[in-house]
Amino acid sequence: MDIKKMVGKNIASLKAYQAKEIPCRVKLDANESPYGFPEAFKILKGVKTNRYPDPEAMALKKLIAKESGVRPENILQGNGSDELIYYLITTFGGPVLYPTPTFSMYGIISQALNEKRVEVSLDGEFDLAVKPILSAIRKEKPGLIFLSSPNNPTANCFSTDRILKIMESASKSIVVVDEAYQPFASARGFIPMLGDYENLVIMRTLSKIGLAALRVGFLIGSEEIINEVNKVRLPFNLNALSQTVALKALEDKGLMRQYVKSIISERKKLFKELSNIKDIVVYPSEANFILFKVQDADGVYQSLLKKGVLVRNMKGAVDGCLRVTVGTQEENRIFIRALKNTSIEG
Ligand code: PMP
Repeated sequence: MDIKKMVGKNIASLKAYQAKEIPCRVKLDANESPYGFPEAFKILKGVKTNRYPDPEAMALKKLIAKESGVRPENILQGNGSDELIYYLITTFGGPVLYPTPTFSMYGIISQALNEKRVEVSLDGEFDLAVKPILSAIRKEKPGLIFLSSPNNPTANCFSTDRILKIMESASKSIVVVDEAYQPFASARGFIPMLGDYENLVIMRTLSKIGLAALRVGFLIGSEEIINEVNKVRLPFNLNALSQTVALKALEDKGLMRQYVKSIISERKKLFKELSNIKDIVVYPSEANFILFKVQDADGVYQSLLKKGVLVRNMKGAVDGCLRVTVGTQEENRIFIRALKNTSIEG
């Protein structure tokens, strides 16, 4: 039996998302927060294991709605935002347009669902190249446009006026502004613009603020859009353990803010340290990670790993670059020391 022949060409040629567990002492490869919420797990004792979870995740949606200044009807819960990308592409279809380099799941899920991918390179500043994007919109008439801002892996926010221009020009496409890293950015984000743009949807996640283990993401958009996407949502997609722990962790707003503040201040220190190392080009960051360029990225990656520090090699996405997640003060110190003890030019 040739299993490969039993799947569509789009699946046979697809590469699964790489999320291997690589043993290391200091894990700075996956844009996670170094700070967790172990106290929140104590609440799990009350969860009934024999009952399905709340299918609407209403308590959690109410809390997110209040924080975001919208109504629960404007929110759709996902098993991580990855699942919501799946739902969006299933609902609205392609072509799916996104700038590159960006988060790989937009492309992987489009291919899995057999939707055409339209990739437009970012400009030299890693900002949106408006002209080529507008002409691709006219030519391809995308069903969906994904804009990760701050963008993974380049770490910058796209210019607001460029995002607005794209939303205005693509009035027949749904524009998803993926704000996974918004808590670490200096700009305000796009939630306040929801009332002005009916094709705008915001995507958020709890994964970068200390709750990656729970797999909780949200879409925020008009009730009309949310209702359509909700039709393809699997029943009970957010399990009871995640709903309960997320709610508990989010109630402690003070602690959450303190962790985000500390990551931002560590990022600033890390940026300075990296900038001071000869032969490294560091890119400004509005996220919880930093992209930097070295002459021999493979060599530096391996050398760091030998010293117990795991970062992400961006080979294939931004050649010659490594991406490091901001860790605790101690983790960042170990990373910088390991990097300084590495021959940068290979
Ligand atoms: N969007 C972006 C831009 C990301 O970088 C990531 C995670 N790497 C996600 C979405 C997915 O996050 P989640 O854990 O909520 O699925």
